[in-house]
Amino acid sequence: MQFDDDADLDTSEVQDVRGSRIPGGRATVGGGIAGVIALVLGLLFGVGPDQLGLTSDGPDAAATASSAGQVQESCLKGRDANSREDCRTVAVVNSVQDFWRQEFQRQDMPYEGARTVLFSQRVGTACGSATSAVGPFYCPGDRKVYLDLGFFDDLRTKFGSSGGPFAQAYVVAHEYGHHVQNLTGALGRSRDGRPGENSDAVKTELQADCYAGVWAHHATTTDGPAGRPLITELTRADVRDGLDAAAAVGDDRIQQRYQGRVAPESWTHGSAAQRQQWFSTGLRTGDMTRCDTFA
Ligand SMILES: [Zn+2]
Repeated sequence: MQFDDDADLDTSEVQDVRGSRIPGGRATVGGGIAGVIALVLGLLFGVGPDQLGLTSDGPDAAATASSAGQVQESCLKGRDANSREDCRTVAVVNSVQDFWRQEFQRQDMPYEGARTVLFSQRVGTACGSATSAVGPFYCPGDRKVYLDLGFFDDLRTKFGSSGGPFAQAYVVAHEYGHHVQNLTGALGRSRDGRPGENSDAVKTELQADCYAGVWAHHATTTDGPAGRPLITELTRADVRDGLDAAAAVGDDRIQQRYQGRVAPESWTHGSAAQRQQWFSTGLRTGDMTRCDTFA
């Protein structure tokens, strides 16, 4: 994955609160190793911690602070995205939102942007306080994507994914898939809270995977504000990285790895095969109407 060296990045789409303390914030996620694993299983790439009944303290200063962070200082051009992981995240957020803005416009629907919050260790959100252990998530309450870049190391070390640059892009694009679902109303369908292979929760997650693929299909042809694509190259190896990540976070793979057995009745995100299949469907067709996982 290669970005246009000279393209301007729009850092206003990313809030960088890494390193900031949450005043008065309390840890609502705990329970030792078992607790952490349960949360990873429950929330990986998921939608807001509210589903797990975490206490909400309301938005904390850490998430609402508007002071400029590192990315505002360091991520100015595409060349920065080619050399730094945090800047790459900014560029991917820009590309993903450029695409959806244009796609919604084409369909005569209003697109409202969603910011990504880069945090470290713990963050306060409208969906409650969360630690990095929950993995990346989208909070419908404040329409933000929350991401600790340390998760990309977890992708490699804990989930056995190759975790290359495009694997990371897939994660970001999946979360924005949830934002798209929030705008179309599809997100409400996952709210009955029931897990299982054929649950609405799984269908919602697979649709977000499909939407990530739809963006990937258009990634090198979507013009940025400067009238040319921000992403100039996506190789076969990149796509393989994305597919690999999609499989690595499949419920069956994670269960096998951490519980030693596969229990489809408790799936919340879908199997490795399902996740790859729907990401591929989006990638191949580039057509969001082909992402009807509920059909
Ligand atoms: Zn998800």
